[in-house]
Amino acid sequence: MTFAIPFDNSYARLPEAFYTRQDPQPVAAPHLLAFNEDLARLMGITPGEVTEMAQVFSGNDIPDGSLPLSQLYSGHQFGNYNPQLGDGRAVLLGETIGTDGLRRDIQLKGSGRTPYSRGGDGRAWLGPVLREYVVSEAMHALGIPTTRALAAVETGEQVFRETALPGAVLTRVASSHLRVGTFQVFAARGQTENLKQLTRYAIERHYPQADGPMGLLRAVSEAQARLIAQWMSVGFIHGVMNTDNCSIAGETIDYGPCAFMDAYHPSTVYSSIDRMGRYAYSNQADIAVWNMAQFATALIQQMDSRDAGVEEATEIVHAMPGLLQSEWLTRFRAKLGFQQQEDGDQAMIADLLTRMAENQADFTNTFRALGSPAARDQFLDPQAFDAWQDGWTDRAAWEEDTAATLSASNPSVIPRNHRIEQMIGTAVAGEHALFHRLNAVLSAPFADHPDDADLTRPPSESEVVQATFCGT
Ligand code: AMP
Ligand code: MG
Repeated sequence: MTFAIPFDNSYARLPEAFYTRQDPQPVAAPHLLAFNEDLARLMGITPGEVTEMAQVFSGNDIPDGSLPLSQLYSGHQFGNYNPQLGDGRAVLLGETIGTDGLRRDIQLKGSGRTPYSRGGDGRAWLGPVLREYVVSEAMHALGIPTTRALAAVETGEQVFRETALPGAVLTRVASSHLRVGTFQVFAARGQTENLKQLTRYAIERHYPQADGPMGLLRAVSEAQARLIAQWMSVGFIHGVMNTDNCSIAGETIDYGPCAFMDAYHPSTVYSSIDRMGRYAYSNQADIAVWNMAQFATALIQQMDSRDAGVEEATEIVHAMPGLLQSEWLTRFRAKLGFQQQEDGDQAMIADLLTRMAENQADFTNTFRALGSPAARDQFLDPQAFDAWQDGWTDRAAWEEDTAATLSASNPSVIPRNHRIEQMIGTAVAGEHALFHRLNAVLSAPFADHPDDADLTRPPSESEVVQATFCGT
């Protein structure tokens, strides 16, 4: 068997205004750290020799059928429009159509400078590469739409941030890398034909049943509403919900200063660059609506009747908070073990979350322990939980199979931030056991893991990560 990737590159067939042809920059001594065999098989890729794959996933060899390019986009960053972004440290190698019939992008991230680089070196260091590898694959195992990780390669070169750090390249797989910002760049420049072509492309690729720009807006809004409710149901904080990080496919994309919460608090922020808390845990729903309003504004630029467009877009964007609320309720009902709907459910969930916040209860472990004596131990004042539990026990009597719903809706293990930091620390020292152990355990998040109980524990005081930095 020889290493082969069956490319079928639809993005490269779009006009040159959409991208710049750009080869990855070679690296000194590539070493393959991880290769995701299951994902490769799904994508129709035939694995090869480790050394051969290291050459391809570092960008040293361009495989047959690949036509590397960097994509153009713009976007709102922390609310401010930046007219020129684009892949400044990434190249799209191309796309494959998998054994499941799905088209997926293969992108090298950390592959060197491109015409869109903004001052930086176009490189990535090992930390963010391994973080994205572990967290995106964990997200997938949790059943949440996400980009995935096909490979991680150490480059054998150093990159310079505050200090010299080992360089690395991540091979990222996505349903596409189309973002709200991909539409914004053409809308802002008044390039209506490009905007129309991009809209047709996105519909054909992701939502073939959608009718025109407003059909696309509706489909993406629904996908984003589902996604953000899923994030909230596992305590995930993305950290940089800029419009250039908002995927048209509705996938989680761009794992920078992201983290899963330990103790529950709605205003939790991890990112060192999010000083105002714009992207705090409980703001994520409002931000998703704001991002869809920016998407609507861009899409409308191509419509002959802008007034009609504004009216329909307004209706779609205004429907989104209701959609988010209902997706949220569905998820959190299941987290309480409920399949039926009762009027008091929302109040019961809100009451539990308030008590959790007041008592620094661990988000993951509290939900996982519902129905067992361990739940009350999560609370500084266990009686705060007891008072809530009486109502829950009465309500649960209406249900069948509460235990099965609970364990299918509440993971036992998530990629805790302090473990990710420990993993990065050991990996920089050349020790990759924790990286592989995290990948293995996190691939089955709804199972019990008695032998890996250390990975289910919240951080001790000394283990708490103070700030999470963006992935540059
Ligand atoms: P991101 O943080 O990946 O969402 O990137 C935001 C913008 O900064 C994009 O235009 C990136 O291409 C650019 N960028 C981030 N890191 C680097 C880097 N190391 N070198 C060059 N450009 C970068
Ligand atoms: Mg980005």
